[in-house]
Amino acid sequence: MYFLDRQRGSDGSFIYRTGKNFNYPLHRDRKGNYIVKSGETLRVSMTSDFFLEEADMWRKEAWDIIHERPDVKFFLLTKRPERVLSSLPHDWNDGWENVMLNVTCENQRRADERIPILLSLPFKHVGLMCAPFIGKVSIRKYLQTGRIEQVLCDGENYDGARECNFDWVKELHDECVESNTTFAFLGIGNNFVKDGKHYRLNSSTQKLMAYKSNMNYKGKEFVYNLKSPLGFPLQKEEMYVPYFPDHCLTCSMKIICNGCSNCGKCKR
Ligand code: SF4
Repeated sequence: MYFLDRQRGSDGSFIYRTGKNFNYPLHRDRKGNYIVKSGETLRVSMTSDFFLEEADMWRKEAWDIIHERPDVKFFLLTKRPERVLSSLPHDWNDGWENVMLNVTCENQRRADERIPILLSLPFKHVGLMCAPFIGKVSIRKYLQTGRIEQVLCDGENYDGARECNFDWVKELHDECVESNTTFAFLGIGNNFVKDGKHYRLNSSTQKLMAYKSNMNYKGKEFVYNLKSPLGFPLQKEEMYVPYFPDHCLTCSMKIICNGCSNCGKCKR
């Protein structure tokens, strides 16, 4: 994130509230329909952290937006699960059906610090992000709770990337298969080691190689009882149906992707 910000000429440590897109989930098209469709997943603050202390003053507004779209899944990611309980809205109760909380577990120490806190929190949906994946991580005992819906894994990128070893990926994948949990190996990173050989590949090739490693695994489904913005249970026919053109078929991210909007950002 810091590397990308530097390339864009900005300072990654500067924390700010985004401008007109802060309330993007509430944006409508000319016909008055929401641009983000029912059943879509929105990943929030992916280059930051939803639970940063510096963002405390903006979070109520963000919760209000999430509450106003009970038909959309919101994926929250944090390295600060210890801040979550005191940052929840007053009407949270035992969790909102449209919110999934994920913690980052880049190595065993962070996994053992953060996952127990994650599992103690009142969330209906939880998951793990092992990225950048820079060390062997075993999460078997946490998967056995049956609460973790998915585990995402990705190597490190950009300058000074640390090693991601395929043996660690395979072991994590095997633990997920054992507990029938979805495992998504999203990319090998640009310092990948397999059978003692180092690979430094560009980002689109990294996704292709991750796909070819055959590590992705679709585990048990978790039901999201989404509601329409008016509060009625959302019917299947009201849900967005993702579209995947041919170039998506060999993409490692397809397993968690919302579908293609032909924005041209995914490298062909
Ligand atoms: S739109 Fe297609 S190519 Fe892009 S991330 Fe999703 S599955 Fe991959």
